[in-house]
Amino acid sequence: MSPSRRAASRPIRVDAHVHLSAWWPEIRRTGYRPDLDYTVSGLLAEMERSQIDFALVIQLFQAASEEQALDEGRRTFEQSGGRLFPVATVDPTRGEEAIATSLERIERDRCLVGIKLFPGYRPFYPHDRRLEPVYELAHRRGLPVLIHQGDTLDGLGLLKFARPLEVDEVAGRFRDVRFVLCHLGNPWLDEAAEIVYKNPNVYADTSGLLAPPSSPYFQRAAVQCRERLETAIISTGLPGRFLHGSDWPLVELRAAIELVEGLDLEEPDRRAILGGNAQQLFGLPLRLPSQPREPTL
Ligand SMILES: [Zn+2]
Repeated sequence: MSPSRRAASRPIRVDAHVHLSAWWPEIRRTGYRPDLDYTVSGLLAEMERSQIDFALVIQLFQAASEEQALDEGRRTFEQSGGRLFPVATVDPTRGEEAIATSLERIERDRCLVGIKLFPGYRPFYPHDRRLEPVYELAHRRGLPVLIHQGDTLDGLGLLKFARPLEVDEVAGRFRDVRFVLCHLGNPWLDEAAEIVYKNPNVYADTSGLLAPPSSPYFQRAAVQCRERLETAIISTGLPGRFLHGSDWPLVELRAAIELVEGLDLEEPDRRAILGGNAQQLFGLPLRLPSQPREPTL
């Protein structure tokens, strides 16, 4: 069955957090399996198997320049036939001039659906004054700002920059900007849930919460993870502010979907978390492109 016919028979599903970039050479070591197909066509094939229609491809701060990262995002969008939407990255520690250049490009790029910040991986707080032009642009263009939260993949990150509490101030200062707390602040899920509850413009994604499949406690950790996620969503009473995400290639698309499918919530809420909330927040198409092009990569 073609992707468009399959999508017609069920609600659209969105993975709001994946990575696919030439600037991540360690992928072979960190992916959920060493032989995964880390290409546009590999990702699309895995999306087909997991019945995911659209994904947000978050660019990486490791790119040689933000300009090249934007070019890569545009190519990925085109090669995927409009199914992989790029999210730009801005690093305020690169200096005022670099930020201004990035923002100029972001302003003109019509493929982008959001801007990602990597506090924790990079030494800055979300309320850093250097980010004000970024938030002003996000407001002008209606682009949600995704913020890395919690644990970092390598030991070099600084967690003090990545606590959900640090988003509270800026969420209040920029009420018209919508923020997404990535990874639900893991391990500070309670703190992230409180920031979502308190601020009407804050959302959270469910990416990167599962333990690596190699963990000897993978199954038990998955059960705990589901319970913690349920607690976060139920305690806020705001299922409309949670977005399904995997953090592929670190987490298998199917495993991340199963985590959300297993949540003890009302069916319409699960469905919204799996797609509708992200469709609305990022202004994604209501259906798949009618004639998806064959990926060229
Ligand atoms: Zn990620």
